[in-house]
Amino acid sequence: MICPTCGKEVPESSIFCAYCGNRLISMISKPEDFVKNILIRRIEAIKNRDTKAIKEIVCNEKYSRFDDWGPPFDLWGPEYLKNEANALKTIQGFNYETEAWKIDIFGDSAIAAFVIMYRGQIRDLSFNVKSRITAILIKQNGEWKVVHEHWSRFPESQMPNSKQQPILL
Ligand SMILES: [Zn+2]
Repeated sequence: MICPTCGKEVPESSIFCAYCGNRLISMISKPEDFVKNILIRRIEAIKNRDTKAIKEIVCNEKYSRFDDWGPPFDLWGPEYLKNEANALKTIQGFNYETEAWKIDIFGDSAIAAFVIMYRGQIRDLSFNVKSRITAILIKQNGEWKVVHEHWSRFPESQMPNSKQQPILL
């Protein structure tokens, strides 16, 4: 199993994480919390510019996304992840908070909805964005993978420039 705090793999039914010392039993008791933790790791991987972690969290073959940068605002397929990896090289000082979480699990599928406030700089331009996120996860071979994300920003968000160029391209 995966430690929800540090993301390292630890033996099944460990009480403490061998890497970070975190107590594991109580933290992963609810499947909804486990799904939330995966999505937090997804955003932490953006913050840490950890494309390897992202590859482990998302379903790389079936991934799709509506993004909040843009235009274009069209549906992306798995190629989005490559663009994201390139964009992460130019992002600095990324930080975020999340709120208003709602997670429901339906068998081997999960749907999560929450709000994120994130900020930072890309190529020396500041952004400060508030977005709504809907994420769909599926359980594959006992592991939850993110298959779809819909990030849509609130209108008051401050984008890197007034022309709203497609940042990820
Ligand atoms: Zn740990």
